[in-house]
Amino acid sequence: MNMLINGEWVESADKETIDVTNPYTGELLDTVPAAGKADVDFAIQSAVEGQKIWYRHNIRERAGILRRFLELVKENRDLLARTLTLETGKPVFDSYGEIDSVYMTFESAIEIVKHQYGKTMPMGIEGGYDDDLQVTVHEPLGVIACIVPFNFPAALWAFKAGPALMAGNAVVVKPATSNPLCVLKLMGLLAEAGVTPQAVQCLTGRGSLVGNWIVENPMIAQVNLTGGVKAGIEIARKAAENLTDYKFELGGNDPLIICADCDMDLAVNEAGDKTRNAGQCCSGAKRFIVHKSVKEEFVRRLIEERLKTIKTGDLLDMETDYGTLISPEAAAEVENQVQHTILQGARLVYGGKREGAFFEPTVLDHVTVDMDIARDMEVFGPLFPIIEFDTLDEAIEIAEASHYGLSAGVITNNLQDAMKVAGALKSGMVAVNGSGGFRAQELPFGGGKKMSGNSRECMSSVLEEVTQEKSIIFRYAMKKYNEYK
Ligand code: NAP
Repeated sequence: MNMLINGEWVESADKETIDVTNPYTGELLDTVPAAGKADVDFAIQSAVEGQKIWYRHNIRERAGILRRFLELVKENRDLLARTLTLETGKPVFDSYGEIDSVYMTFESAIEIVKHQYGKTMPMGIEGGYDDDLQVTVHEPLGVIACIVPFNFPAALWAFKAGPALMAGNAVVVKPATSNPLCVLKLMGLLAEAGVTPQAVQCLTGRGSLVGNWIVENPMIAQVNLTGGVKAGIEIARKAAENLTDYKFELGGNDPLIICADCDMDLAVNEAGDKTRNAGQCCSGAKRFIVHKSVKEEFVRRLIEERLKTIKTGDLLDMETDYGTLISPEAAAEVENQVQHTILQGARLVYGGKREGAFFEPTVLDHVTVDMDIARDMEVFGPLFPIIEFDTLDEAIEIAEASHYGLSAGVITNNLQDAMKVAGALKSGMVAVNGSGGFRAQELPFGGGKKMSGNSRECMSSVLEEVTQEKSIIFRYAMKKYNEYK
């Protein structure tokens, strides 16, 4: 597939390409252009012009066009889900869920923009301004660079592109290099639906090059990244040169505290969700902090009821519920992290084997708070490190030993214990009787604490991130009003 620049599907100027392979079979699926700096600069210049045209469409018109896009998503649902599965290695039932979430996210974005109200300031507060009408309006930022990770590419693309476009911005999207095809197709559907073609640019190529060129371009109003901490730090440094705004949803090492009084069915069920997307989730339990009195039961039931029951095989079969990691290299990295943790003293009690990009769900017991995995080493795979605790204070201390603060969960029947955990943890979210993987459209999600970012990507606050408030003053406009009121 080619990339989408200035409304055209194009190769890169120097014709260089990157292979996209199926992680499950190793087959070559397609190639995409490796964009050069000239391609990037041209796309951004074009997006600046496109944004002005797109913003001139009023909210009603933008809503109509994005509704047409949603019809196209419906018509192409099978193709999009299949593409996502083939390039990502996730089971197709999950891909269907992800494409359906695109639909829901755009629908919500269409609605919220209709309710973004400006303000009128109260008069008579400061001497000299009594007759001045002071109001605010919301304006788009301009061109927003949306940098998308590999794990939920369609869903996370939608959280960025939907609200940004609906609010009148143009987007320059850079999908992950390993799996850009579904995002490219979605971008094509936006143009087909009637979005100003120059307002929807999609550049392919490596983050270390293409991503950098996008970020350093002064015409970019905001960089919106979902990805790892390393990428976040690199982008923040580059963005600082032009004081470009940035919003980040970064990594995590979410604790799930399982208390002695927990509902064990619930604990096993919530923990078992970790096998989703082969454990490649930003939020959701990554450290299992379990009371010593229930640890044995928890580990036994987790293995018997959830890990031994996964269904592997043909990823296009709706019954398959467990796929591969994004690449053999990613799986090898998880394998290294397992070995590293064993060398630090953990004990392998289940799984641990890798074949290509496939990695078995793996349980490591006897993990202690001094080990890297219990602190800042994010494992993006199906790993269950078990850390035992005695008192709730100890569990909180273990949970807080990480520099991440994305999300967290606690399973307990004691409401006051739950509230103590909710108050004590420095994380963007705490789920009570759930894992930190909880994500709902409207609820502020993600970063906000420590190294996990500064965005709260959700429908109830996204407009604050993709628009800016402009103040307009009508001097002396209220003179007569004030005389006659
Ligand atoms: P990643 O390696 O950081 O890449 C994310 C995106 O950033 C990709 O498109 C990548 O391009 C690009 N990129 C990398 N370095 C860049 C740079 N210096 N400048 C500009 N762009 C750059 O992350 P990933 O492996 O795709 O995803 C996994 C990470 O994302 C995990 O840490 C996970 O926790 C986090 N994540 C967070 C959330 C959240 O909502 N908080 C959600 C999902 C994932 P290439 O693909 O070409 O490298």
